[in-house]
Amino acid sequence: MKPRAIFIAGVLLAVGTFTAFPVQASPTASTLEPGSLARAHTIRAQIGARYRALPGGGLAITEASSTGVVESFALLTPDLLETRFLPADNGIYYATCPVRATCPYPARRLARPAADLAPHRLALELALHTFLESSADVVVNPFANTDLTFPALNALASHWAKRDVVVECPASLETWIADKNAGGTWAYTFRDADWTRIKVGLCEAALAAEQPDYGGIEPWLVAIAVHVITHESWHLRLWQGRRDEARVECKAIRSDRRSFLRLGATPDQADDLYSWAWAFHIRQAKLFPEYRLKGCGAKRPGPLSPPPPPPHDGSGPMAAG
Ligand SMILES: [Zn+2]
Repeated sequence: MKPRAIFIAGVLLAVGTFTAFPVQASPTASTLEPGSLARAHTIRAQIGARYRALPGGGLAITEASSTGVVESFALLTPDLLETRFLPADNGIYYATCPVRATCPYPARRLARPAADLAPHRLALELALHTFLESSADVVVNPFANTDLTFPALNALASHWAKRDVVVECPASLETWIADKNAGGTWAYTFRDADWTRIKVGLCEAALAAEQPDYGGIEPWLVAIAVHVITHESWHLRLWQGRRDEARVECKAIRSDRRSFLRLGATPDQADDLYSWAWAFHIRQAKLFPEYRLKGCGAKRPGPLSPPPPPPHDGSGPMAAG
């Protein structure tokens, strides 16, 4: 039996595996075995009826179709450093959307909390039934184009903002690219908003700060992610300097080490991450003068760990002279 694939764009990213998005549109439709599409319509009607009325908001399966003109899907790892391509042949595409929302980019207020398992359950039910009842090899269900939030990141941002604020994490690269405010930024917020929206992938990187090896994510990415969230948090704090990039950036670098610790990093990890955050901070100030604050006084990173003591067997370096 050949392996069959489920892509639940965004949802899988949230649990630390992959996010998927379609690439390579083709003028010719990809093949779908006869009967599979009819079966998919029946599955959509049967399962969809049960999900339309849920406590906390219903879910609608708005489409069941062939993966059609898409030739393949790109799968991205959470650190965005690795991409794999998988063929979309013989696939079924289900679109799911919160009831009353406009998809694929529903409004923020209709976003589902990350802890809400209903979209995950619906996606798995769709996949399971489709694989059992048809010969489709791929099931795609790009729900979760709504933003995700994580309690640990909201708590971190609220700590620095000194009020309750939310860190919004795009569930897929698609929604970040589609966001007209996001172009070329690491994150953004609006004046005196109580939320900030962070570049896709950075929330997952920040949450890895507490893991022994950062969950396999590069330390520089973890450090930048936490720094960016800390920087935005200082924009969200209702203080005099909140609209001054230089003052906000200075507060951020001075807060970073405590941010790492708050997210569960060990003191050694916090030192390690701080050296990367510092490098990023210096880079920003060099490239963009508006981020540069004279006399900021942020601490330079120290040596990461003390060097081992010299050997006492007389084999050490000889004194010159
Ligand atoms: Zn800023």
